[in-house]
Amino acid sequence: MGVKECSRCDAIMCDRLLFGYHYLCDECWSELHEAKEMLPEQTTEGKVVEFLRSFLKTTKGTYGTKEDRDEVFQRVLEENSR
Ligand SMILES: [Zn+2]
Repeated sequence: MGVKECSRCDAIMCDRLLFGYHYLCDECWSELHEAKEMLPEQTTEGKVVEFLRSFLKTTKGTYGTKEDRDEVFQRVLEENSR
């Protein structure tokens, strides 16, 4: 038995389990829910599995929050709209 180490960061004793053996901490779990907004609207089961697998290969903070994305989007838009 391991310490249920998060697949994306140093957190241990994680409760969320993906595919039977990848653990995720609460922070990465909520990041996953932010990141899922990037899935295309025409999503299939296969695309979701692919997305989950690629998410597991990233590290904590890769996707950021919707607020982070909004901020960057707004800044770039302003810089390029004069
Ligand atoms: Zn984590």
